[in-house]
Amino acid sequence: MIRLSKSCLSAAESSAVLNVLDDEYLGMGSYVRTFEHELSAFFDRTTLCVSSGTAALHLALQALSLKPGDEVLVPSLTYVATFQAVTASGATPIACDIDPATLQIDLRDAALRISSRTKVILPVHYAGSASSLPSIYSFADINGLRVVEDAAHAFGSFSHNQKVGSIGDIVCFSFDGIKNITSGEGGCIVTTDPEILQRVSDDRLLGVQNDSIKRYSGQRSWDFDVSSQGWRYHMSNINAAIGSSQLKRLSDFKLIKKHLSTHYLSLLSDVSGLTTFPLYLSDIIPHIFVVLLDFSVDRFQLRDYLLSKDIQTGIHYPPNHLLSRFKTPYRLPHTESLFPRLLSLPFHCDMSLSDVEMVVSALKSFL
Ligand SMILES: *Cc1c(COP(=O)(O)O)cnc(C)c1O
Repeated sequence: MIRLSKSCLSAAESSAVLNVLDDEYLGMGSYVRTFEHELSAFFDRTTLCVSSGTAALHLALQALSLKPGDEVLVPSLTYVATFQAVTASGATPIACDIDPATLQIDLRDAALRISSRTKVILPVHYAGSASSLPSIYSFADINGLRVVEDAAHAFGSFSHNQKVGSIGDIVCFSFDGIKNITSGEGGCIVTTDPEILQRVSDDRLLGVQNDSIKRYSGQRSWDFDVSSQGWRYHMSNINAAIGSSQLKRLSDFKLIKKHLSTHYLSLLSDVSGLTTFPLYLSDIIPHIFVVLLDFSVDRFQLRDYLLSKDIQTGIHYPPNHLLSRFKTPYRLPHTESLFPRLLSLPFHCDMSLSDVEMVVSALKSFL
């Protein structure tokens, strides 16, 4: 089976986990502090680790003290995690359309949806591309909005020569099993805002004030105060040990994904029935490899056919504004016309170039 995605692990991750098990201190401790130091150096900004990318988004939004009725502009074409994090914070997600060329939030559409209650814009760096960040920040400036970036797909990507996370307001990453690097489950928040850092660092540990500092040295607070709603969203030493090992492999992963994408792009260029999206491979580490099928192609039949050839595919994502929980009274024409034609091909760092060739020849024979 050529899998759609998978964790790509080496002996380094295994021995890192064994070290944690030998220490018999599995919770949030010195490994989390080390991983946070490594990430802070990577971004050149303070970074806090949490239990998932969803938790990162939830804590970032909660730290902005949004009130019920406050609105967050967010593209509909994202994983449901993004929308659930917004409602978890008490705010209302306002689903926006995408730019069909970049699959990123369409700022003309977002502008139409601004109201007096709009507080935040939450762009999603779909597939790893963050090329629209400069225009998003000027849009936020003009409209007095905070920016929370869902950079779950974009760990290690650059936008206009700047590393995603090294600039910007509040940037959230995911380290779940299939992201550019994984910690098993996990995520992080990068910002320079001291108030946000304080809130996140307490709220990930049930709101217990300054408990983070104790945990780093294997202790905890016994005499404490709590003044905000907190959650059990901290990262464990086991997860941090995996994350540290993976971070060291990022440049290898980047090269592999560059080779795989380049090979896909060149082999697919003369396949009729689908088109590819432009990928600026000097800037980004793609998280997924998405193609756009022609209107005439039956996506479900194609997926079944590929599966019969032991090739898994995926669909990123069912648009949130079509889900029962987040249904909108309005249409999003680009999202609705593109989504039924999107198909994600197998893409992970344990794939070989000949796997890519097998996927493309199976696609060709169906099309
Ligand atoms: C993976 C993902 C998340 C959530 O991250 P988890 O670590 O799985 O909670 C959020 N947004 C997007 C776009 C994602 O792909």
